[in-house]
Amino acid sequence: MKLTDSHGRTINYLRLSVTDRCNMRCRYCMPAEGVPLKEHEAILSYEELLLITEAALAIGVEKVRITGGEPLVRGGIVGFLAQLSALPGLRHLALTTNGLKLTEMATDLYRAGLQRLNVSLDSLNPATFADITRGGDLTKVLAGLDAAEAAGFPPPKLNVVIMAGVNDHEIIDFAEMTRRRGNSIRFIEYMPVVKEEGWQRFSVSGEDIIARIAARYRLEPVDKGPYAGPSRDFRIPGGKGSIGIITAISGHFCSDCNRIRVTSTGQAKGCLFSDQRTDLVPSLRPPDRDKLAAQLREIVSGKPERHGISCDTYQHQNFTMAQIGG
Ligand code: SAM
Ligand code: SF4
Repeated sequence: MKLTDSHGRTINYLRLSVTDRCNMRCRYCMPAEGVPLKEHEAILSYEELLLITEAALAIGVEKVRITGGEPLVRGGIVGFLAQLSALPGLRHLALTTNGLKLTEMATDLYRAGLQRLNVSLDSLNPATFADITRGGDLTKVLAGLDAAEAAGFPPPKLNVVIMAGVNDHEIIDFAEMTRRRGNSIRFIEYMPVVKEEGWQRFSVSGEDIIARIAARYRLEPVDKGPYAGPSRDFRIPGGKGSIGIITAISGHFCSDCNRIRVTSTGQAKGCLFSDQRTDLVPSLRPPDRDKLAAQLREIVSGKPERHGISCDTYQHQNFTMAQIGG
């Protein structure tokens, strides 16, 4: 069953956040002191998250990505993934992580039926990495990448948020990784979510990123897979990994949007940058599958055509990526 929104886009992808907690404090994602954490009872149980996923699959979603906060810090995550991966209709199960806990968890995650890992990695330089993440240990993340492959995963896809003057001088090093290690790289335009004054000074457009790589290497376009969504992908001929750009700010983004999001407190969103959200909790406590499916359908049909984050009139939303899941 094909699920489409009122702008003709196919919606086949659910991003499900399982926690607002995190063991890092990336500068672009949350303030140094972290975000005010939700009370324990406000966070959905795994049973409730499963109900949401089942309802999403029933209306036509095929791919689920588990995110957070940091999903690997929530207790019981491996068992939850095993339950998810057994759901009929789920064709693709992925998880986005900062990689800190991968060394100890990769084998269990693989055995649970998780198919793909995306790892956020913004610098290959230990000092820059520690600066961006406010103290993160690069060696742990790199060891986690190796552990993931040793466990049986394909080389994790790397999410790299590029910021001018911070890590944009590493664009070529990351591109080189697609040849050297076979990881695919997804460059993400920096988005102003922490209400930083003058955030535009960090902006590097996706076009600029690709132009810098193209000045060094020949790039060939890569065909989009069925769940690719708003990224545009290229490859250095002979390279195993692809190089993608997510131009959330500069364009080519909304027209290919294929997703809905649900936070760990059961707030469903049709657009990352909209303040419109639907509370799914009344359909969960007590559980009402039909009502849940109807709410999700409504979110899909109410998806706005585009976000207005680049407009001067954009009203800054009060959220952090750690609460929504990126
Ligand atoms: N903790 C996990 C991680 O870091 O991969 C999953 C959650 S994190 C919120 C999901 C993604 O959002 C990460 O790839 C992160 O780089 C991205 N992200 C967070 N804040 C961002 C921002 N201001 N601009 C662009 N991407 C951002
Ligand atoms: Fe944590 Fe991920 Fe946000 Fe970094 S981007 S602070 S790892 S949730």
